[in-house]
Amino acid sequence: MYMAELELILAAPRGYCAGVDRAVETVEQALKLQGAPVYVRKQIVHNLHVVADLETRGAIFVDDVNEVPEGATVVFSAHGVAPTVHEGAAERALDVIDATCPLVTKVHNEAKRYDQRGYQMLLIGHADHEEVVGTMGEAPGAMTLVENAADVRTLPDYPVDTPLAYLTQTTLSVDETSGIIAALKQRYPWIESPDKGDICYATSNRQAAVKELARVTELVLVIGSANSSNSCRLVEVARDAGVDSYLIEDESEIDPTWIGNRTKIGITSGASAPERLVLGVIEWFRTRSDGITISELETVHEDVSFHLPRPIRRALALVDTPSAD
Ligand code: SF4
Repeated sequence: MYMAELELILAAPRGYCAGVDRAVETVEQALKLQGAPVYVRKQIVHNLHVVADLETRGAIFVDDVNEVPEGATVVFSAHGVAPTVHEGAAERALDVIDATCPLVTKVHNEAKRYDQRGYQMLLIGHADHEEVVGTMGEAPGAMTLVENAADVRTLPDYPVDTPLAYLTQTTLSVDETSGIIAALKQRYPWIESPDKGDICYATSNRQAAVKELARVTELVLVIGSANSSNSCRLVEVARDAGVDSYLIEDESEIDPTWIGNRTKIGITSGASAPERLVLGVIEWFRTRSDGITISELETVHEDVSFHLPRPIRRALALVDTPSAD
């Protein structure tokens, strides 16, 4: 199918966030510093291309620390782990490099603080997502998962003097989460929460950007993997804003029938999708149309970066004091 001249509009910000950038570079540096293989617990970030690329360079992805040879190096993914995973790694004398995003660590710390003060916690998030599993592991006896507003009705009738707080997964839909929070506040008016919300800057910025993109385009393609929470949320936000939207792993998944007579195509990418995949999609359109114009719709400028984990910085001589990090 050959297409007329197309206007491609790219959302900005899109793609890699600071936490993903840090996690991927952590594995790359570990491979450079120690040589292959480097074991990684779970997908370092939720993107098949990133994982496949690191595999070809010597990373071995495992589901459990028990699969890592005793004494070997293991990198923990950006999504964070429960304390029991750290304990399992210590039992096998593994050399741990923890690439948990600092913004996920912040939620773990909030959970620990509330737990120490005897709070019951309601965690808004998606069951079985690695981040949720890790966060719940901080206080398994004191945390209940809330996946949607309907779940709020099924929660216990906590007495009004029950210390109660809510936390959230970092990569949720901003709009949907505010509805769940409103339902929680209606049911438990005394419920507390951390001063700053837990949905991270990258998630909210990419959702705000795709909302604007949906206003000026006829179709929005979101590049990301199906298990990437923030990528799936971008599709939902675009659809809620009134345009057709599809999640694609890369250009090979574009169905030409989606385009039809449309000439204004929006493109964005989830926080774990590398920019080269965006370039692949642009090229796909370039070779199948009478021509393309490319512009960028920037809604906010991002300038966030995180230090690499301390073991990597120490090895690179970027820090000189040992630490338990
Ligand atoms: S999406 Fe947010 S929480 Fe997740 S790695 Fe990126 S910055 Fe960190």
